[in-house]
Amino acid sequence: MELTLENYLAWMQDFAQKIADKKDYLSDLDSKIGDGDHGNNMARGLKAVSEALATKPADLTSALKVTAMALISKVGGAAGPLYGTAFLEMAKLSSKTVDLSELITAAAAGLQKRGGAQAGDKTMVDVWLPVRDNLKNSQLTSEKIEQAVNSTKQMEAKKGRASYLGERSVGHLDPGAVSSGYLFESMLQTGVI
Ligand code: ADP
Ligand code: MG
Ligand code: MG
Repeated sequence: MELTLENYLAWMQDFAQKIADKKDYLSDLDSKIGDGDHGNNMARGLKAVSEALATKPADLTSALKVTAMALISKVGGAAGPLYGTAFLEMAKLSSKTVDLSELITAAAAGLQKRGGAQAGDKTMVDVWLPVRDNLKNSQLTSEKIEQAVNSTKQMEAKKGRASYLGERSVGHLDPGAVSSGYLFESMLQTGVI
């Protein structure tokens, strides 16, 4: 369960492909409880990440750093700075440890510090926290990720644009939770853990 430059690049390549494939679906989800741009935002951002990583960063720390910068500058909206912060926290910690569980723990903490969302607020945090916990116990599976993503459906949004809808946000998946689900599916599928 250690992140290396090699498995990280494979992970991000797979994630970028998933986001490109699911762009319209993610924007459709966002049109139900937000402004309909999450898929476009993420596709633009992940294209920038792929381009940045194609220039062959020297090591894992620089790869994580260029990922964070591309996400912050190209995704935009609420999700850009949040994903960007998560990767920046991993970049900072990666000079001390490359243990995946510790990296994701730091990333989730950064995300929560930046966005102020708690478990149950119907955001991407509702995927990051269970993934963090399951990684700690070495029990992360595809089913656990899917469960976490689906759990956002019955939640009422307390943060971000969807919170403007109040209880009318109930019954819809959170788009950022779905894109985070793809991030962690890619992590499993590319053999990072
Ligand atoms: P915007 O809402 O600015 O259009 P996006 O559509 O790209 O941005 O991203 C929306 C997603 O961002 C939401 O589905 C949610 O998962 C996430 N999000 C929004 N606000 C927060 C927050 N404060 N903390 C964590 N995640 C958030
Ligand atoms: Mg949006
Ligand atoms: Mg927007």
